[in-house]
Amino acid sequence: MKPIGPIPAAFATQQGELMIGGCGVSDLAVRTGQTPFFVYDLDLATAQVERFRAAMPNEIHLHYAVKANPHPAVIKHLMSLTDGLDMASGGELERVRDCGAAMEHVSFAGPGKRDPELELAISLGATLNLESENEAVRALAIAERLGVTPRLAVRVNPDFELKGSGMSMGGGAKPFGIDQERVPALVRKLIAAGADWRGFHIYSGSQSLDVDAIAECQRASIALAADLAHAIGETPKSVNLGGGFGIPYTANDVPLDVESVGSRLSQALSARDAILQDTQFMIELGRWLIGEAGVYVAKILDRKESKGELFFVTDGGMHHHLAASGNFGMVMKRNYPVAIASHMGAETVGSATIVGPLCTPLDKLAADMAVPEAQIGDYVAVFASGAYGLSASPVHFLSHPMASEIVVKGGKITI
Ligand SMILES: *Cc1c(COP(=O)(O)O)cnc(C)c1O
Repeated sequence: MKPIGPIPAAFATQQGELMIGGCGVSDLAVRTGQTPFFVYDLDLATAQVERFRAAMPNEIHLHYAVKANPHPAVIKHLMSLTDGLDMASGGELERVRDCGAAMEHVSFAGPGKRDPELELAISLGATLNLESENEAVRALAIAERLGVTPRLAVRVNPDFELKGSGMSMGGGAKPFGIDQERVPALVRKLIAAGADWRGFHIYSGSQSLDVDAIAECQRASIALAADLAHAIGETPKSVNLGGGFGIPYTANDVPLDVESVGSRLSQALSARDAILQDTQFMIELGRWLIGEAGVYVAKILDRKESKGELFFVTDGGMHHHLAASGNFGMVMKRNYPVAIASHMGAETVGSATIVGPLCTPLDKLAADMAVPEAQIGDYVAVFASGAYGLSASPVHFLSHPMASEIVVKGGKITI
């Protein structure tokens, strides 16, 4: 038997049925008109923003990294609660534009930006986090052609990385950002060309649950920003300290103590070099804000035994939820928090492997987990599914129907 990840405490049950935002899973399935579906409880996202604000120094701005979950209702909700949005593509930029985002609080990072994406960002007035010298040259040329002053920041590839993170994006040779020693020369060129130089973006990793690693990374980022500012001879208007706050996915994951991160950051900010006195600092988070607010719900289509092992075959799988199948940034498949949503809290009677309908052994939602008595027609819930779910999955693989996405807020369902 393999353990499952921790089910977020915010979810209630009623007579054995999982409740999400005050609605029972079977009711949600009827209202949605199909399974599988993802449901995002926006009230849980609100609670995360409030927790962040209470834990962090007041002067820190919070941005939402849209790539974690680009559903328009999620964007609109988090846009109303945070100080800005971070994009990773021109497509995301179009989405937030259509959601009515204030472009002076939107930034766009990511390697390999195409000219039309640069043009869209510059013409909308979003800040480009430049990922290479070449990109800087193209951005300046486009801005000149359009006759506008571009807002440009430089993404720095720092010499350090976020230790213990699920995905490291800094330290050593990386496709992200510009090596720190080449940054001052580039910034001087941007300023000389008349650009509105915004500052630095220092993003060194994702999915960390380690207070010391995050705090050290933030301290090092502030110190690096000060060194770069001295080398350039100018104060950056803003410094994006990255994010990397993780959430628990598997059995041994312990939730991040954000309150401790906040107090360590307070100390680091008070001790900062005078050249950064008037700099606006921000943190950009994706999964920590929305990850635990989402649940993926599928229905059991078949119940079968093979060589003494029980399998539940569901209508959902890795085509909608690659991450839960262990194939998105996980080295070895470990179980997400998964439950039979129709029989919450019921006594377990054995173990089962929960698979999807795809013809590949990779298509597993949970391996060998303890289960209660469950039948065809019961619902399976995969928690911690609000970030990197549907939008990070191979939805066309095997041409199965698309999953729906719905949101609940204040007990009301929006399809
Ligand atoms: C992916 C990414 C994020 C969001 O990461 P989370 O782990 O979801 O918080 C933020 N910023 C950048 C630059 C990214 O690439």
